[in-house]
Amino acid sequence: MMKAYILDLDGVIHRGSNPIDGAVDAVNRLRDRAKVLFLTNNSTRSRAAVAARLSATGIRCEEGDVITAGYAAAVYIRKRYGAGTVYPIGETGLIEELELQGHAISEDARFVVVGLDRDFSYEKLRIGLRNIVNGAKFIATNTDPVLPTEDGFVPGAGAIVSALETASGQSPVVTGKPEPQIMEIVLDHLGLDAEECVIVGDRLDTDILAGIRCGMKTVLVLTGVETRESLERSDIKPDCVVGSITELLVTPESDDPIRRGCYITRC
Ligand SMILES: [Mg+2]
Repeated sequence: MMKAYILDLDGVIHRGSNPIDGAVDAVNRLRDRAKVLFLTNNSTRSRAAVAARLSATGIRCEEGDVITAGYAAAVYIRKRYGAGTVYPIGETGLIEELELQGHAISEDARFVVVGLDRDFSYEKLRIGLRNIVNGAKFIATNTDPVLPTEDGFVPGAGAIVSALETASGQSPVVTGKPEPQIMEIVLDHLGLDAEECVIVGDRLDTDILAGIRCGMKTVLVLTGVETRESLERSDIKPDCVVGSITELLVTPESDDPIRRGCYITRC
């Protein structure tokens, strides 16, 4: 049995505002057996807000059980450079996490931090560009191109990051999955080695790649972005594929070769 399960949210536990069938019960049963950490590239909500939302669906969860890409960006800047001035292109969840790490929000800043911002505007792009031209460091919470909602896919933070990248001619430091920054924060937080953890996600190029790069076991669920066809086409291969998170602990023997090779069935 692994010591910790690191669970992505969008496409794993919920899709938009709707919980995925059976996910609440599955997560609570996992929690009875191992540590569970919720890890999301979505920076629009603070850790406290994510925990409150999960609790409202019936999942046992506290703020300390959640890591967001916004939190990771705020911690990354503080640990590497100390507290500083930040111009955020993002929503309240990003701004709250920056302030909680001691950073000051300013239009004249040492750092420009970009996450998903559903009020993104030309004006924000202009101010972000001006700061970068003046020497501010460009940091992105993540570069997910889209995110799944109950109404289908909507543009993700990556689309906004690309706008600033094009304007400035600079590439950001990315702190979210699949980059090592957020995974180091996760392992520090858990006090575990990567080999003791499983990451569960619905995206190959973020969740699964993040796990592979840091040496964790990886489980892909098919309730979000990926399909068997996209898995087939990709070079990024998880250790295990399950239809949904509800199959994590109760995985019957199967003729499916990927699933038959699943190490979790042998725990
Ligand atoms: Mg996801």
